[in-house]
Amino acid sequence: MDKVKVAINGYGTIGKRVADAVSLQDDMEIVGVSKTRPNFEAKLALKRGFPLYVPENKLSTFKDAGLEVSGTIEDMCREAEIVVDATPGGIGAQYKELYEKSGCKAIWQGGEKHELAGFSFNALSNYDGAFGRRYVRVVSCNTTALCRLLYLLDNEYGVKKVRAVLMRRGADPGDDKSGPINAIVPNPITLPSHHGPDVKTVLPHINITTLAAKLSTTLMHMHAVNVELSSTATAEDVRTTLSREPRVFLASSDMKSTAELVEFARDSRRPRYDVWENIVWSDSITVEENELYLFMAVHQEAIVIPENVDAIRSMFELMDKESSMKKTNESMGIGTL
Ligand code: NAD
Repeated sequence: MDKVKVAINGYGTIGKRVADAVSLQDDMEIVGVSKTRPNFEAKLALKRGFPLYVPENKLSTFKDAGLEVSGTIEDMCREAEIVVDATPGGIGAQYKELYEKSGCKAIWQGGEKHELAGFSFNALSNYDGAFGRRYVRVVSCNTTALCRLLYLLDNEYGVKKVRAVLMRRGADPGDDKSGPINAIVPNPITLPSHHGPDVKTVLPHINITTLAAKLSTTLMHMHAVNVELSSTATAEDVRTTLSREPRVFLASSDMKSTAELVEFARDSRRPRYDVWENIVWSDSITVEENELYLFMAVHQEAIVIPENVDAIRSMFELMDKESSMKKTNESMGIGTL
């Protein structure tokens, strides 16, 4: 069977990780990645063997910088059967017309609105719903983590009500423009934060309210989650449920912080110290009168990457949910921590 031809529009934090993950699959291949500036990431893309495409008005800039360019972003979209749009939030919407014209499918990321694609995706929660679709949005890092967790809990025990406080990283580690900040910023001050409504784009029946604040850190997000369960469960039951899912990692208490989690991921030789799994502190799992409490860390740069791979398989109807998630997990080493 021919491999699905995938292009990455926006070879940044998310785009370069998706490109690497797609390259590990035997049923899809990268036919091009786009850059807007001839920086170190553009050079890296070429070094990794990815054909480089650029905006038409930047062709000479890249040429002057001595970088080999395969064509314009329009050319790239014509080469691709699907474009994974990983441009900054809000920019992706501007490309819809081009994707429409090129006849390719497209996946947007969580920075775009649900309405742009008309379908928001999380592999565990609604893989089948993306079957054959032309446009899909993979939800953001925090929403991905909440969807995975709540899907598992709802399936096993039923979920009555969720309250979650999200402590968000101020910026990504490579971002030298917007952080870290010397402040704790309610984000936003009014309730709810966008994460609760975003979970509902994937799991519409879940009753959830979220509050969020930005903190002076770049490493990971942290969630303090409280879930009212519909049926009786002990903390041990919940641990067993979560431990069965490879995309959830139960961390031990000797990893005392996000800093130590990152060190652990580095020592585990994860590429770019990426943790694709939800990280739930096992000892934080507590149940009191059918109310569950836990702490969960989320590696913002990594968690959505396997979801993009599974979304491609679903959109091309390549295989069922269990087979796709297993294939993605095994190729990337998910569930091995
Ligand atoms: P980023 O800024 O790291 O990368 C974006 C890339 O797009 C850069 O390479 C930039 O040069 C390129 N770009 C900018 N304007 C462009 C244009 N007009 N045309 C083509 N390329 C352009 O951004 P990111 O963090 O990778 O975010 C991408 C998307 O993923 C956003 O929707 C974001 O909300 C979402 N997301 C980000 C994170 C995260 O923590 N970084 C996590 C989950 C989802």
